[in-house]
Amino acid sequence: MVKKIVFIATAFIGLIILLVIMNYSGHPYEDEQVFDNTPEIEGQPTTGETDAPLTIVEFGDFMCPACYAWGEEIYPQIQKDFIDKGEAQFTYINTPFHGMPSETGALAAESVFSKAPEDYWDFHHGLFDEQDSENHHSNWLTDEVISDMVETHTSLNADDVLSDIKDEAHRAEIDYDEQMISEYGVGLTPTIFINNVKIQDPFDYDEIKETIDNELDN
Ligand code: CA
Repeated sequence: MVKKIVFIATAFIGLIILLVIMNYSGHPYEDEQVFDNTPEIEGQPTTGETDAPLTIVEFGDFMCPACYAWGEEIYPQIQKDFIDKGEAQFTYINTPFHGMPSETGALAAESVFSKAPEDYWDFHHGLFDEQDSENHHSNWLTDEVISDMVETHTSLNADDVLSDIKDEAHRAEIDYDEQMISEYGVGLTPTIFINNVKIQDPFDYDEIKETIDNELDN
């Protein structure tokens, strides 16, 4: 009788283990959220080969210290391993979570992108570099800084960008980005998507790399 119970219990445990293994092999993602579609990148600043098989999207905010850190620590690895090799394109969606200065940064970025798309990424990285690393709550994103970044990194006249901000000339683009934020349940910045997969920890390069490899294999 005892032997029979042990046999049944062993068989039952074996079955559970088998089911768990089958489940993992069928679904490579444990904690990542998988959406029906990759966020739409049409009309958004995008870098990399347009025919790259993979799309990486950052929902970011110029006022967000973690976004600056991500751009310094993680983005260069993604760029070297995948974007430069033509395997991924990278898109940035404005996610202005820190009030007025975030909105100002987003409006400035949309203005530069619309007027001089070829200068967009220099402006983008230049503006992030202006973050105040000593005081994360300082309002560093001023008209003066924007003016300076436009003059340094673009062929544009700074006054044209400043008047776009004042007139909220690109409000529609910000509204569209906010629609994406809500559609993709973005609650933190940076939030990173690899195709339609939302990364659990944007600072875990192993997770990012594993997800990219999975997506490239599919
Ligand atoms: Ca946008």
